[in-house]
Amino acid sequence: MDVTPILDGLNDAQRQAVTAPSEPALVIAGAGSGKTRVLVHRAAWLIDVEGVSPQGLLAVTFTNKAAAEMRGRIEALLKVPVQHLWIGTFHGLAHRMLRRHWREAGLPQSFQIIDSDDQLRLIKRLFKSQEIDDKLWAPKEIQWFINGQKDEGLRPQHIDDGGDPNLRQKIELYRSYEEICQRGGLVDFAELLLRAHEVLRDNAELLEHYRRRFQHLLVDEFQDTNAIQYAWLRLLAGSKGVPFVVGDDDQSIYGWRGARVEHIEQFQKDFPGTHVVKLEQNYRSTGTILNAANAVISNNGSRMGKNLWTDGAVGESIKLYSAYNERDEADFIVGRLRDWSAQGNARADAALLYRSNAQSRVLEEGLINARIPYRVYGGLRFFERAEIKDALAYLRLASNRDDDSSFERVVNKPTRGIGARTVEIMRAYARANACSMWRAAGAVASDELNGRAANAVAAFMTLIERMAREIDGLELHDKVDHVIHLSALIDFFKKDKGEKGETRIENLAELVSAAKSFEPDPAGEMSPLDEFLAHAALEAGEGQAGAWEDCVQLMTMHSAKGLEFPLVFICGMEDGLFPHQRSVADAQGLEEERRLCYVGITRAMRSLYITHAEQRRLHGMDSFSQPSRFIAEIPDEHIEEIRPRVQVARPMRSPGVTGRRGPVPSSGNELGIRLGQQVRHKKFGDGVILNCEGQGAHARVEVNFEGAGTKWLVLSYANLDLM
Ligand code: ATP
Ligand code: MG
Repeated sequence: MDVTPILDGLNDAQRQAVTAPSEPALVIAGAGSGKTRVLVHRAAWLIDVEGVSPQGLLAVTFTNKAAAEMRGRIEALLKVPVQHLWIGTFHGLAHRMLRRHWREAGLPQSFQIIDSDDQLRLIKRLFKSQEIDDKLWAPKEIQWFINGQKDEGLRPQHIDDGGDPNLRQKIELYRSYEEICQRGGLVDFAELLLRAHEVLRDNAELLEHYRRRFQHLLVDEFQDTNAIQYAWLRLLAGSKGVPFVVGDDDQSIYGWRGARVEHIEQFQKDFPGTHVVKLEQNYRSTGTILNAANAVISNNGSRMGKNLWTDGAVGESIKLYSAYNERDEADFIVGRLRDWSAQGNARADAALLYRSNAQSRVLEEGLINARIPYRVYGGLRFFERAEIKDALAYLRLASNRDDDSSFERVVNKPTRGIGARTVEIMRAYARANACSMWRAAGAVASDELNGRAANAVAAFMTLIERMAREIDGLELHDKVDHVIHLSALIDFFKKDKGEKGETRIENLAELVSAAKSFEPDPAGEMSPLDEFLAHAALEAGEGQAGAWEDCVQLMTMHSAKGLEFPLVFICGMEDGLFPHQRSVADAQGLEEERRLCYVGITRAMRSLYITHAEQRRLHGMDSFSQPSRFIAEIPDEHIEEIRPRVQVARPMRSPGVTGRRGPVPSSGNELGIRLGQQVRHKKFGDGVILNCEGQGAHARVEVNFEGAGTKWLVLSYANLDLM
């Protein structure tokens, strides 16, 4: 048999791993050394040379995207499609198993998966039905607790409360939550894993069947498996299965979410005689980038220790840019990206990596102004984030009480006892009387609603009136700040103990920053607040650049794991931001941050830029910070400093309502708008519609006004009269 194609393009150590005997194997190696490549070739080798049926393989990757890519690469090597190969994420594979064995798993055939938002809503309803004060107990805290227990493989009956009444109550809530899910046939993400483990553990026949079937278990990014994932894997492998896992202890970055790098050691104990392969040659990065990464990670104490080298070019030095502030940083990056494109490179080959999601806003603005298409990977663009939309909805209501979609969005957020039924009554009234929800609320509160609901609605209306009154005359950013505080959204998100709640609060603060740096059109006819709201609607409306479009990739360093790009920018390398403030105090936290830095640096193939700002406005506050300690850990000889420009960066112009023109699909028809339509605007007078684009709340039109010239207007603000 001709095995060359499968072993082509592999070095000796990689070949050794790919062709290893059918025994448990652990490939432990640094970034870019070909671990994922080895996994792909191993699968092809097993099928093509060892004669293992594709059905006999189970391959686990970290994301669905990686799974699809792996399947494609295996098929390319084998030159045939491999339909029966089970390949996916832990969650995806667990789901597949539960769908097949719903009966054994004790689930209804039509069980539904609930995502984390659904899960939270369910917990909130549980709180209500048990009359639990959500000031004492945050629903998110319980969500975090339940998922954490499930990740450890624990059901309520397995948890010892140790006489702690607090813990006892949490366990009780977990139990009630389970009952509701069971009754409704609902399965959350953590439950998928836990139940997939239990169904095998408790059904000897089934376990036997799968152990016979999946002789080979291939796992990528093994260092980031959590307890229940590892337990599932062990169970499935039994004593005869052949697990083949690849990972890098230096890239363990999900400890905060329950991942355990100790599984690497544990694996060798659980599978005695494990064949350990180390790969040391890096094929991804230049010598300079690799040396920098090695130098940084060598500062970590707890490491297995690896020596990564490359025989590739030394390459260009790492460029370090000290920006004056975050806008100067964005300007610099935009300039480099322009050069990159001008040299004929693909935009998709460039990635902007950052520690915290909130950093993306300023970068996004820079890219929008420069008309560089981009995609925020694994996240939402700033103005599309739920918490930002919540805050904007309050502002919109304060500005215009008849904005129904904003009304519906926040009438019960944070929860204030206005249930779905009450909202339905208001909707019915609004429909019957052709009025806004606001007017309906006023009317039904005085006669149709019962006392409690009526009071809740009245309190909400009073709150909005108060907002409108108190922000009158304030500066734009003070308006935004004040409304956020009055809305109690911060307290609401504070109850979420996880990283997500913190991120949401950071983003809200970032909205104040956005307002502070927003420059209304001096000749504008709208109030600065309305102009700002229109600006936000425009920026959110466009969504991501199309998948087909060649665009720059923006993502956190966490979501960059496993990927590679010829050009990488690591932005915001400042102490307090990266390493993150909350991690610098404890040694373990700092080491996890350093591994994240290692992940970031090793994404770069040819060019790496590191940027930091002397002054940064983030989360609404100005701070002056020191360059990240990780920069100092890179030997000087690899770094070339780019002197800051002599002039202070000019503030960027916000695009405002006239900022975005693109290809113009004619939409907005649902609003009765057509090109050539005559319209009248309160201030601009009569005009003709030239263009329209976007949909729903984001629909906007270009109007040629007889007196005022051509303007782009957001339909939901413009109050145009159709003539
Ligand atoms: P990470 O730790 O970041 O996940 P990895 O160890 O999985 O990295 P791969 O992504 O598999 O590394 O490989 C890194 C790059 O090196 C890829 O572009 C891959 O195609 C290339 N590569 C790996 N091995 C070889 C080889 N023997 N010859 C040529 N190129 C190789
Ligand atoms: Mg990989």
